Amino acid sequence: MTAHIRPDLDAIPAYIPGRSFPGAIKLASNETTQGPLPSVHAAIAEAVGGVNRYPDIRATALVESLAKKLGVATENVAAGNGSVALCQEVVQITCGPGDEVLFAWRAFEAYPIITRVAGATPVQVPLTADHVHDLDAMLAAITDRTRLIFVCNPNNPTGTVVRRAELEAFLDAVPSNILVVLDEAYFEYTRPAADGDHVDGVELARGRRNVIVLRTFSKAYGLAGLRVGYAVADPDVITALSKVRIAFAVSTIAQQAALSSLEASAELLARTDALIVERDRVRDALVAGGFDVGTSQSNFVWLPLAERSGEFASAAAEQGLLLRAYGNDGVRVTIGDPHENDAFLKFALQT
Ligand code: PMP
Repeated sequence: MTAHIRPDLDAIPAYIPGRSFPGAIKLASNETTQGPLPSVHAAIAEAVGGVNRYPDIRATALVESLAKKLGVATENVAAGNGSVALCQEVVQITCGPGDEVLFAWRAFEAYPIITRVAGATPVQVPLTADHVHDLDAMLAAITDRTRLIFVCNPNNPTGTVVRRAELEAFLDAVPSNILVVLDEAYFEYTRPAADGDHVDGVELARGRRNVIVLRTFSKAYGLAGLRVGYAVADPDVITALSKVRIAFAVSTIAQQAALSSLEASAELLARTDALIVERDRVRDALVAGGFDVGTSQSNFVWLPLAERSGEFASAAAEQGLLLRAYGNDGVRVTIGDPHENDAFLKFALQT
């Protein structure tokens, strides 16, 4: 007889990552194409020598370095096993069965999965026609069961951002007993708009005890394979997260690599400038080729191809180009190296 497994899990899909195969051009997971800097390699090699010991459970050196860099207290910062683990922890500290988690759709695919695994109910508010968060509709969707709100900014998979004044008004209007997550996995790829508008969640979280910011070392810092993310929040929220976190969630190697990447942040962030130039080149070429592609503030672009999405991504895969299709909504294309982007453009503009 097979063991009893919660029957409600049957209806919940497992997270499906971007696929790859040898020789493929993988533009499916919003990773960086460059490996770690020599200084980060060295930090990893040194950390390997100490792996007979458990990691520092609080990731003290990393947390201190992040706090200093962000201008917050160490009590405001926690490191996690990727920011997706922090998303899960945030659901765990706020929700039980019957509670509601509110987020835009489409947004990060993990939100509905982790919500349902916790026995809570996802409440999905459609993006606007411009693929941006509809903050007014999200406010209107709050009920007395809402415990948590995710605002994915920039939004994965559409690459759009919300305006600062609108987000501030939203945060001011959300009841203070509802925790709001500002998921800023792609923060390092954002730049102020022509009129100076720019959202920095850490600034908005100052003095707002119900706001938590999540960022990651997986994207701009290029450490996706090591799994390190961090949270910035009120100390009470940080303490609650530490109670539900798996013990020793962030490995010694991951802590040291993240610390050393932070020390090299100027060099790593300079790479984001180059990526943004490529992103805008790809977008301009697509628009010139007749695609409806909005501006992106992330390391990917969004093609709202509706029912053509699956067929477009399958045709690309046949040519060794791995993209990410989202149902009948669109296709997300990660910006890679220039030659990879050229291969994608060649495919897209012939299709
Ligand atoms: N949030 C968003 C919006 C993401 O797109 C991702 C990764 N795809 C994550 C969180 C999780 O990133 P990680 O766990 O690698 O830090």
